Amino acid sequence: MKRILGLSLALTLFAPAPPAAAADPEALTTLNRIRYEAFERSQVHAYALELADRYGPRLTNSPNHRASAEWVKGELEKIGLAGARIEPFDFGRGWSFGRCEVRMTSPAEVPLLALPKAWTPGTAGAVRGRAVRVDLETPADLEAQRGKLAGTIVLLDAAGKGAEERAKLPVAERWSDTELAEMLESKVPVERMGAWLKKLGKEWTFGRQRDEFLVAEGVLATAEVSSRENGIVRGDGSEFHRDPERPAGVPGLYFAAEPYQRILRLLAAGTAVELELEVDARFQDQDLRAPNVVAELPGRDKSGEVVMTGAHLDSWHLGTGAVDDGAGVAVVMEAMRILGRLGVAPRRTIRVALWGGEEQGLLGSRAWVERHIVERDPVAAGAGDLSLPPAVRSLRAPFRAKGEHGKISAYFNLDYGSGRIRGIYTLGNVAAGAVFEEWIRPLADLGVSTVTNNPIPIGGSDHSAFDRSGVPGFMFLQDPLDYFHLVHHSNLDTADHLRRDDLVQASIVVAHFLWQAANRDALLPRKPMPEAALPGGSRPSASGR
Ligand SMILES: [Zn+2]
Repeated sequence: MKRILGLSLALTLFAPAPPAAAADPEALTTLNRIRYEAFERSQVHAYALELADRYGPRLTNSPNHRASAEWVKGELEKIGLAGARIEPFDFGRGWSFGRCEVRMTSPAEVPLLALPKAWTPGTAGAVRGRAVRVDLETPADLEAQRGKLAGTIVLLDAAGKGAEERAKLPVAERWSDTELAEMLESKVPVERMGAWLKKLGKEWTFGRQRDEFLVAEGVLATAEVSSRENGIVRGDGSEFHRDPERPAGVPGLYFAAEPYQRILRLLAAGTAVELELEVDARFQDQDLRAPNVVAELPGRDKSGEVVMTGAHLDSWHLGTGAVDDGAGVAVVMEAMRILGRLGVAPRRTIRVALWGGEEQGLLGSRAWVERHIVERDPVAAGAGDLSLPPAVRSLRAPFRAKGEHGKISAYFNLDYGSGRIRGIYTLGNVAAGAVFEEWIRPLADLGVSTVTNNPIPIGGSDHSAFDRSGVPGFMFLQDPLDYFHLVHHSNLDTADHLRRDDLVQASIVVAHFLWQAANRDALLPRKPMPEAALPGGSRPSASGR
């Protein structure tokens, strides 16, 4: 007994002091209030349902997107934020569709599951034509088919893409402890922008050539296969058709894999296939500027400094954009609502931004960054091929810091679906990561455990616009749920795939991070300025620790 007592005493004496963040009673009391507000009065699911069911889909600069921006602005005003406003940016035409009927008329009569590609024209009423399968990938392909395709519906894809994707389906819907632990081991980042720029470059030059060919040859429509099987129609849009100066080509369709492969099998067996299509699609070119929505919770003694959060309000058009990124928009709106309810001003200003044009290349966030915090020179040396449009060139263009560049402590982005937050990607900012390690301690019971310095393994989002400009940008790490194997950019992106409890959890985590960042003594630490930065721009007002 005595010996045991001695041992426990020794343990007590040498136990490490509790971590600073956990011992900070003010921070913990605020977290109590954040949790209470989120659990008892959450609006997050209601926000997400409205965005999806009433306003979805919200393709950038479509009537729905513009209406949803007005609605979000109104809600941000209602929750007491200051300066709620729409900051328009140059985008191009909107596009929407109201009808899409596709059927096979021969050798069998059967309706087929297909949906239009965004920014392609509709048909004038129902049209019928022969299905043909040809490659149109190079100028030589176009030459080989000249004079042969009038009145046809051209299947552009070979079979097999869907089956390959199916093999990649993840099993787990939530990150396991093992998977999260693996994320703690840093990997060397891989440069991916080069490949993306190359794809955009081909779309810009060859895409135009192909569009002109299809129109001149009298092709009725093109068909592409969904990159998911199991009846999911997944796809996006014709990258540059939003430019009203550019020819819009012919109607484009995405087919579900199964009907697409049925047509291919029939053609391979030598059976002629006739299809009938009717697509009602419209371009909107009354206003070529699309909305970003911005609002603030004004700060107290450091109100000139800013902490930002955001998500993208635009979506693709095949579902309702409930999850990508309606979920993210709802969570950051709810986080701001919760912070507003605290009734205490944060030390720094907290700003929320709901971006447009994310799906077309982070266009809204990049435009905002280039308006407010950096000056990019898309015709300077280093900006790449001058025949490409400025929005593409400015991705790598040299820049100079301006305006609030040195005063934005951090930008926190949310864009990986409806899953709860398990941690955060620091984008290699290990110094900020050490700060986040402290912040997440009292969030352990909500499943938040992982601060990873690894590059994000999946596509970029609006945090990149900040990160590439030398302002700390971060992305929350979320449970994937069914995001990547079912929902992402597909007709299944609907409110049925939202998880209310996960959204409530995420709104607590975002509110906590914003409050911590807004109230700490220093700005968050920064990484070295990116290579494209030019000397002489404004510098951070504080060193950031
Ligand atoms: Zn997204």
